[in-house]
Amino acid sequence: MEPESDFKILRAKRLIDGNGGPSLNNQSVLIKDSEIVAVGDTQDIKAPDGSSVEVLDFGDKTIMPGMVDAHTHHVGFGAGRVGDEVASYPDEVLTIQAAKNARRALLSGVTTIRENGPKNVTSLRLRDAINEGLTIGPRMHLCGRPVSIIGGHMGYFGTTPTGPNQCREAVRQLIKEGADYIKITATGGSTQTSLPLRPSFNLDELRSITDEAQKFGKLTAAHCSSTQGIANSLDAGVDMIIHCIFQEPDGSNNFREDIAEQIVAQQAYVNPTLHVFRSSIWKLMLKHEDQGLSTAEQIELDEMRRGFDERLEHCARLLKMGAKVITGSDSSWGNYLLGNTPYETECLVMAGMSDSNAVHSVTNDSAKSLNMDDLVGSIEPGKQADIIVIDGDPTKKITTLWNVSEVFLGGDKIERGSDESLSAVRQHRPVADPE
Ligand SMILES: [Zn+2]
Repeated sequence: MEPESDFKILRAKRLIDGNGGPSLNNQSVLIKDSEIVAVGDTQDIKAPDGSSVEVLDFGDKTIMPGMVDAHTHHVGFGAGRVGDEVASYPDEVLTIQAAKNARRALLSGVTTIRENGPKNVTSLRLRDAINEGLTIGPRMHLCGRPVSIIGGHMGYFGTTPTGPNQCREAVRQLIKEGADYIKITATGGSTQTSLPLRPSFNLDELRSITDEAQKFGKLTAAHCSSTQGIANSLDAGVDMIIHCIFQEPDGSNNFREDIAEQIVAQQAYVNPTLHVFRSSIWKLMLKHEDQGLSTAEQIELDEMRRGFDERLEHCARLLKMGAKVITGSDSSWGNYLLGNTPYETECLVMAGMSDSNAVHSVTNDSAKSLNMDDLVGSIEPGKQADIIVIDGDPTKKITTLWNVSEVFLGGDKIERGSDESLSAVRQHRPVADPE
């Protein structure tokens, strides 16, 4: 084997640095070990005299930061299984499933993930295994387990405190186990025993969670599938509102301008998780294209479409008001398989985000929302060399995010395998819903 060079230089026709601007022409990136050392015009970027350097020229392609997906579920199957069923699998099986998902994510160009709901210590042990070199996956920002109420959404994953003291205890326990941030389920959700239209924790419980997390410098993110949960989470100072569904206890949709204003004023991040919803629509559309639908299924499809349009509209209003919206896919939850993050970014564009801002939402903005922008999210000296190479310019057309041809994690080129194995990662859209 040839000895590794001291430096790597990546160059291409276009570079997107991840800071939100347009793409730049004829740039090069100088990498030493895992770190970016310099970025600039190709004629100016050179390794120091006397050092060995490997130059990788990607011709007319685009170099950009690896994608940062702020919302994943590595234990999920992405094949329609509900959470209750996922949680019934033994931890050993779920850890292997998580490893499969992690590999898929990395091969697709996602180089950092924030895990939003694993069971017991599965994700923590998976990260250990990746660090040991047993398997590959993106950088992992972990919650350990979500904090839920008894019978509440994701309570089956193992942490269900009651009262402010137990809530503090839960946060301390998760941090002791290695959690990087604290995920809260502030309302019910798809969990069979939970009530999605009702809040879960009381305000004093939520406040003790955020207070304890803040004390240790950890961010908080709250699952909110109805309005009162959003309001409570904001009052408790939660840093990220997940789903952000404006729904009343009677199930009616009602965008609350006052709460949206509070989101903007508190600079809370919003992770709207649009495609996980659309993926269930697509599942029915694909069934329709394949074998047809029953009358009941057709009615369900029409209802889901109306719901999706409403969620797009609410997201559009949040964007117009200046809310900080980032890409967090929610895969492999429900029908949305990890390795397909661009579908969520595409939905943000459907809600009115520009292509250029959408690229930002899945790179440096997303990294900022995780407090990881000192490490990843953009191509800048001092950051980790998490870089992908793309055919096309996603700042002009977001769907070119699919055209990943190379992935580098911490300066190492990832072996992505055959086209056949890569195409197995991709979920396809229905013919009736073209790009
Ligand atoms: Zn989720």
